[in-house]
Amino acid sequence: MQLFNTLTRAVEPIIPLDPAGKRVSLYVCGPTIYNYGHIGNFRTYVAVDLLRRSLRHFGYNVDHVMQFTDVDDKTIRGAREKNLPLKEFTAIYRQAFLEDAKTLNIEIPERTPNATDHIPAMIALIQKLLDKKSAYVSDDGSVYFRIASFPDYGCLCHLDLEGLISGARVSQDEYEKEGVGDFVLWKKWVAADGEVGWDSPWGKGRPGWHIECSALSMEHLGPQIDIHGGGTDLRFPHHENEIAQSEAATGLPFVGHWFHVEHLLVDGQKMSKSLGNMYTVRDVLDRGYTGRELRYALLSGANYAKNLNFTWQGMEDAKTALQRIDEWRKRVRAVAPALPPPDSEQMEASPGVATFLRELDLALANDLNINDALGRFFSLIRETHKALDAGTLTPLQAHHLKVAWNKFDAILGLGDAVVAVPAEIQALLDQRAEARKAKNFSLSDELRKKIEVLGWKVKDTAKGQELLPG
Ligand code: AMP
Ligand code: ZN
Repeated sequence: MQLFNTLTRAVEPIIPLDPAGKRVSLYVCGPTIYNYGHIGNFRTYVAVDLLRRSLRHFGYNVDHVMQFTDVDDKTIRGAREKNLPLKEFTAIYRQAFLEDAKTLNIEIPERTPNATDHIPAMIALIQKLLDKKSAYVSDDGSVYFRIASFPDYGCLCHLDLEGLISGARVSQDEYEKEGVGDFVLWKKWVAADGEVGWDSPWGKGRPGWHIECSALSMEHLGPQIDIHGGGTDLRFPHHENEIAQSEAATGLPFVGHWFHVEHLLVDGQKMSKSLGNMYTVRDVLDRGYTGRELRYALLSGANYAKNLNFTWQGMEDAKTALQRIDEWRKRVRAVAPALPPPDSEQMEASPGVATFLRELDLALANDLNINDALGRFFSLIRETHKALDAGTLTPLQAHHLKVAWNKFDAILGLGDAVVAVPAEIQALLDQRAEARKAKNFSLSDELRKKIEVLGWKVKDTAKGQELLPG
């Protein structure tokens, strides 16, 4: 499998550190949990989910870690405004992130530590950097990384450090390239931090943002990782600083492959509160769309290495594309018998399907070209409809198509459409459950008929009533 590596600016094969070549370690910078994530953030996490599922498709075991940033200026300010302890405040948005990820059918990484649960690991790493003279305690009592001690500084973003004032310092976590300088590892406590602070050898304070990811990736995945991902804005300064901290401490190359997802724009513009175009997943649901439709729009609008322009027309297109897929699946299902899955040789009995599966592998292996795979899949859909209309699609071919869809959907993660149950039907179902409890079977039958007249079917199972579209 080949993936673009931002460090080398080339599409390169993934070569895991694991001697057996099976395990791939993946670290992805998680969200800062001071607010609901916007759909731009989720574009990045959907793209990471596509990477994760594709790695699995090619037989790798993915060991994926993503931290939640639950201490920084924004979380501290937010907690103070809401008058809540920091932990209680950030717990709300951690939960919200996990709910939104579920709405979008994003798989949750194997480990999702909160940064504040690992302060000792960060302190130990900072101490190591001090011992190696890669860091120093400044006169204001904070600890800074000395970028002059790391000759490779700027390797990821190809920074030209000439003319840099030696010893210039930045204490904020986020800054522009013009502000490059020694960056903060440990921030000395100030009154604005209120209750937030931990004891350390350098006095009470809190970690900088960059040290979190170096410490957490080392703690959970070891000194070196195969793939490190995040949105493109994290390249500078965050990932540049992660490389400096990790490599200065271990003397080893930190990351094999840097995976950066380009930004989501809305109507061609950068998302911002002042433009009123910053949407959360919840805002999109409030407009009547499903998580499945949003996932499809985020996946299919553009490949991960290109900007994605989000529009409401794009959401309508996603809805139409899903309806086409669902319609096709229904027709295929109606013909397909229940058979065990074929092996690849048996699949050759349906050459069109076998070709599609090969094309899918090629597209994914070529820097996750999901749009190419989708294009080829829609051709397969058109071919199937033609064969169904002509009555030439055999049950075995239908079975193979069903199997191919299951393989493709293990990557797409679209699943089945969730059918909303109208309130009127739900009320009849509730009455029927009561009737059955009271053993009033004639009323129960009468209610079943009413439900059927309204276009639904009800089945009685061991778990209770199951509702099916008629
Ligand atoms: P944050 O919570 O700000 O640290 O962001 C979480 C993730 O979302 C990071 O990987 C960011 O790079 C990414 N991100 C932020 N804005 C966008 C955007 N407009 N499009 C895609 N990814 C984004
Ligand atoms: Zn990070």
